[in-house]
Amino acid sequence: MAGIYVHIPFCKKACNYCDFHFSTTATYKEEMIAAINSEITLRKDELDQEIIKTIYFGGGTPSLLSTKQIRSIIDRIYSTFELTKDPEITLEANPDDLSLEKLKELKKAGINRLSIGVQSFFAEHLEWMNRAHTSKESIQCLKDAQSVGFDNITIDLIYGIPTMTDEQWFKNIAQAITMNIPHISAYNLTVEKKTALDYQIKKGISQPLDDEQGAQHFEVLQTLLKAKGYIHYEVSNFGKEGYISKHNTSYWQSENYLGFGPSAHSFNGSNRSWNISNNKKYMQSIQKKELPCTVEELSNADKANEHLMLGLRNIWGCNWEYLESCLSSYQLRQLKAELVTYIMDGQILNFPSGFKISDSGILFADGIASELFVE
Ligand code: SF4
Repeated sequence: MAGIYVHIPFCKKACNYCDFHFSTTATYKEEMIAAINSEITLRKDELDQEIIKTIYFGGGTPSLLSTKQIRSIIDRIYSTFELTKDPEITLEANPDDLSLEKLKELKKAGINRLSIGVQSFFAEHLEWMNRAHTSKESIQCLKDAQSVGFDNITIDLIYGIPTMTDEQWFKNIAQAITMNIPHISAYNLTVEKKTALDYQIKKGISQPLDDEQGAQHFEVLQTLLKAKGYIHYEVSNFGKEGYISKHNTSYWQSENYLGFGPSAHSFNGSNRSWNISNNKKYMQSIQKKELPCTVEELSNADKANEHLMLGLRNIWGCNWEYLESCLSSYQLRQLKAELVTYIMDGQILNFPSGFKISDSGILFADGIASELFVE
């Protein structure tokens, strides 16, 4: 089974930390939807008749589209691929786009999971990040979404904001718990190159980030959510039983997916490819029926390293059978020797078919994975 990702490259405003691909000019939305639909048709044979179990609208801000536009993409996917009976269909949305009316329409259009970019329930953090919505809008849209029958809701929260106190972070998590949000993705703020935040810190307009504060917030997050029955199934993701993201889990378990729209990535088990991150060039290329993508064939070492990177970030871990299929016996011996230190330190847990990160190692998962990378 496979997944489909659709990238909607428009946003109302640029958040200060964001380095995703988007444009704040949305005058050509219709043309973009037409191009995405054409790309879906052009790539109809790429999944080799695999059945689609998830569709994910990400971006950018997919909730900026009208329900009719979203519906047209869903319809094109249905008429092009075979889908499971009840696919997970997620829409990323910002609170200011989700009126009660829009929520009802989205439900009717087939969206059954909402990923809402709340980030913080405090006005001062939203202003600092240059978010387009208010805290009041976040709370209202969550209530409205639940009232129209969306039970599969995830919210994004950001911690490690320089002006965020420990108490405010605690209150952000508590608010989500109180509102019965069954899934939370929480991200440590990072400074990406060429973002407004990068500029602000370099110019001394914003305080630099504090790693210790980030680590402390992560500990609070882990403790609070675990105590409330959330499964910490990936470094940044926590879900109640039955609410673990099927789409993202399929990425982390190296299943195949197709990505449509500018900058969208695809994976087919042996190749990764990504579309051009330029809206105009993307549309021009699709008009000429040419796929605007770059393809990279993965070597066995690349596959093993991706497996280490992804596996050490989640509760399913890394699998020896998969690693044995990618690595030579010399490379496997080396990897096993390097693992010993982390197992002795309690940062990695061993089990018969593989190994995974422990609670104490999870904060260092990316660093440990890169230490284990195979040449
Ligand atoms: S709304 Fe999302 S994609 Fe758009 S700028 Fe903000 S963080 Fe980036």
